[in-house]
Amino acid sequence: MDLWKLGFFISISISLTQAIASSDLSSSYFEGGYFGFENPEQKNTTSSRRQSSVPSSSPSLNCGAWDNDCSEQILALAKRPETVEWLKGLRRRIHENPELAFEEVETSRLIREELDLMEVNYRFPMAETGLRASIGTGGPPFVAIRADMDALPIQEAVEWEHKSKVAGKMHACGHDAHVAMLIGAAKILKCREHHLKGTVILLFQPAEEAGNGAKRMIEYGALENVEAIFAIHVSHEHPTGVIGSRPGPLLAGCGFFRAVISGKEGRAGNPHHSVDPILAASAAVISLQNIVSREANPLDSQVVSVASFNGGGNLDMIPETVVLGGTFRAFSNTSFYQLRQRIEEVIVEQVSVYRCSATVEFFEKEHRFYPPTVNDEQMYNHVRKVAIDLVGPKNFKVVPPMMGAEDFSFYSEVIPAAFFYIGVRNETLGSIHTGHSPYFMIDEDVLPIGAAAHAAIAERYLNEHG
Ligand SMILES: [Zn+2]
Ligand SMILES: [Zn+2]
Repeated sequence: MDLWKLGFFISISISLTQAIASSDLSSSYFEGGYFGFENPEQKNTTSSRRQSSVPSSSPSLNCGAWDNDCSEQILALAKRPETVEWLKGLRRRIHENPELAFEEVETSRLIREELDLMEVNYRFPMAETGLRASIGTGGPPFVAIRADMDALPIQEAVEWEHKSKVAGKMHACGHDAHVAMLIGAAKILKCREHHLKGTVILLFQPAEEAGNGAKRMIEYGALENVEAIFAIHVSHEHPTGVIGSRPGPLLAGCGFFRAVISGKEGRAGNPHHSVDPILAASAAVISLQNIVSREANPLDSQVVSVASFNGGGNLDMIPETVVLGGTFRAFSNTSFYQLRQRIEEVIVEQVSVYRCSATVEFFEKEHRFYPPTVNDEQMYNHVRKVAIDLVGPKNFKVVPPMMGAEDFSFYSEVIPAAFFYIGVRNETLGSIHTGHSPYFMIDEDVLPIGAAAHAAIAERYLNEHG
C-alpha cells in the first residue's frame, strides 16, 4: 500500500532480539510437525504428513445459521498455540526473504507448498507469481479474500533474529503478515469446508506496490464468478487486533505526473536572447496550487503536490528545459480525472504565457494510476459485524479516510468490496512505526486474529448469501 509514503520515518533504533521469541518454528513444518486441524468428517485423510487426532479441547464444529458460536469456533482454531507458532514461522520465513513486485517466486512457492499440504486446489500462475485458490463446494456463491505478496526496496533497520536476509529489500508494508494470515485462513476454511455454503476464493497477488498487480490478476480471471471481495492491511495506528474500516471512500485515488517544459537556452546575463523555462515552470507550480484551492469543492478532499523540480546546472546559463513532477489524489473517480485534466491544461497554458512549451505525462502505461478505494456499504457492514463478533465492539473502529492509495481499488471498481485495517501497534515491542519505514515491524500476535477475520468474513458471507 502506498498509504504510508506521506509518513515520516522516525529514526529510533530498536532491538527486537529479546522482544520476539527466538526459536524458528518454521522448519518443524517439514519434519513431521504438521499441526493441521482435523476435520472430523475427513479423518481418514490420505496425507501421511497429517497427525490425525482432534484435540479434545477442539470446539464442536457445527454452524447452521450463523451465530456467535461460529465466530468463537473459528477464533479458537486460529488461536491454538501450535497454529500461532506455525503462523509466526510462515511470516518469519517470508520476512527473511523479501521479494519485490512480480519477483515473488519463493513466496509464491511457499504458499503453494502450504496449500498442497492442506490439499487445497489453486490456479497458478496468474500475473507471473500470483495464484487463485478455492475452498468449498466449487459452486456459487463465490466470495474472495486477498493478500498481497510483494516487499519494498528498503534496507531493514530493525535488528532482530528474523531480519531480512536480502540487502536493500524489506517487508516494510506488512505483506508478509498478509500472506501468513491468508494461509492461516485457508487452513481454518479447509477444516470447516463442510460448513461452506459456496466457494471461498483466496487470491495471493503480486506487485501491490507497483500498482498493477491487482489489475493483472483481474485480467487473468481472478474475479471470475466472484461476487464480493475483502482484504486486510496491517496498521501501526491501532493496537494489536483492533479492526477498523469505514463505508464509502477509504483510500484516495493516486496518480503521478511529470512535465518537460522547454524554452531556449541562453546566457543568463542576456535573458532577452533566451526563452526562460525556469520562470515558466515556476509560474506553473504556483498555478497548480490554485486547482485545489479555487476549483475543488472544499468538502471533497484533494491534493496536488509538486515534489520534483529540476533544471539547469550552470549559474550563468538559462537552461533549455525544466522537468517538474508530483502526485495528485482524490476520493472519487470524477475528481481524480478532473485533476488529471486540469494539471495538464494548467501546465501547458501557463508556460505558454512565458513563450515555453510543455509535454505532460501521467505514467498510465506504467500503471501508476490507482483509483480510489471505495468500500461498498453492505460489504463494510459485513466486515463490521464479523469484527465485532471476533474482537468485541470496543475493538472495532470507524476510521477516517486517508490520502494513501492501495491497488485493492481495482477490485473494488469491479465488484462490491471492503478493505479494512487490523492493528499491529504494541508500544512494548516497539511496533509503532509507519509502513514503508525501515523501522517498520508488527506485533505477530495479530496473525491468528487476522487469519480468523479472513476466514469468518468468507464463511459468514457464504452462510448468509448461499
Ligand atoms: Zn505499501
Ligand atoms: Zn501495503
